[in-house]
Amino acid sequence: MLDVDAVRAQFPILSREVNGKPLTYLDNGASAQKPQVVLDTIQRAYGEDYANVHRGLHTLSTISTENYEKVRGTVARFLGAPSEEHIVFTSGTTEGINLVSYGWAASRMQAGDEIVLSIMEHHANIVPWHFLRERLGVKLVWVDTAPDGSLDPQAVLDAMTERTKLVAITHLSNVLGTIVDVRSICDGARERGVPVLVDGSQGAVHLPVNVAEIGCDFYAITGHKLYGPSASGAIYIRPERMAEMVPFMGGGDMIREVTRDTVSYNDPPMKFEAGTPGIVQTIGLGAALEWMMDLGVENIAAHEARLRDYAQDRLTGLNWLNVQGNAPGKAAIFSFTLDGAAHAHDISTVLDKKGVAVRAGHHCAEPLMRHLGVSATCRASFAAYNTEAEVDTLVDALELCHDLFA
Ligand code: PLP
Repeated sequence: MLDVDAVRAQFPILSREVNGKPLTYLDNGASAQKPQVVLDTIQRAYGEDYANVHRGLHTLSTISTENYEKVRGTVARFLGAPSEEHIVFTSGTTEGINLVSYGWAASRMQAGDEIVLSIMEHHANIVPWHFLRERLGVKLVWVDTAPDGSLDPQAVLDAMTERTKLVAITHLSNVLGTIVDVRSICDGARERGVPVLVDGSQGAVHLPVNVAEIGCDFYAITGHKLYGPSASGAIYIRPERMAEMVPFMGGGDMIREVTRDTVSYNDPPMKFEAGTPGIVQTIGLGAALEWMMDLGVENIAAHEARLRDYAQDRLTGLNWLNVQGNAPGKAAIFSFTLDGAAHAHDISTVLDKKGVAVRAGHHCAEPLMRHLGVSATCRASFAAYNTEAEVDTLVDALELCHDLFA
């Protein structure tokens, strides 16, 4: 069981005040706070060990390269990938999905081919496919959620036709907290010979992930939600898919030889990593993933499940609060609106005055918002360091909103 006080003590920012109140940070779905070990690692990477990677033969470049490359193995372990060679570093999920769109899908799809998506996707897992719709005439096929916010894996498989070339699906909705049975989707898609990309931006934060067991072709993660630095991330790519990919960006590091007339490429995964990478960000990501694995990803998930149950209980007690999504086993992410005219932005402003940080808006999921019939929601999303007392603080602040706006 997680010792939440001991966890909190590792996050310096959690002891600060906001608007004269103790910070209650419930905007983890947007970005998580960083433990001291990540801050120390960043400080050391810049303050003691910094040099560019791969190209130098001097001592600091060797140390920096070792510290950076070591993270590939850490990510592979974290995701249950068979080898670190299957891991490409990115600046986050957005870059990872764009890499698949430009590097794999664009050269393999033509007009009339189909990509199956759920209605819960984040724009990062929509817009790169719209690019292919605009440029190639690819068709986007949408699968709706059930009224409780759950997604039937069979509905995803039923949406596939002989023109389906890819399923691009989230592991965990950043709005509803719905957990998608990506393993069943991958099983069914494999039988039909269709690759599956999983957006693991939220899934890898809240669930133990094993890409070998899931059976996906691509699994993208983003470091800043995983208690690591912003502009860090990675994507697991199944070797068969990697072999089919062409480079997305050209530049230093991704080449073997460049002449006036020719270019040849480095071996994967570096073939897909052009230019000076986010050296320190990636080293910080390694520290964050080690921190999560030391704590135990299962322990974090169990702690968050307790918080979810408590929050669900308290929030459903507020009969003027409409929580979107109630899928069985959902994650501790609650999007809600209040009865009456109060806009999500006004609610979040009042909560902020009480030191409670939540997100308000469409959460980069406009198709889902339209499907739900709302323009914006407030979202409270929990992490390893949150407590039941913070759920109470949220509820007290929401009651104040109700008094103000009802
Ligand atoms: N997918 C989901 C489900 C997300 O929640 C997010 C971030 O909010 C992203 C993709 C995009 O991640 P990033 O902006 O770090 O690339």
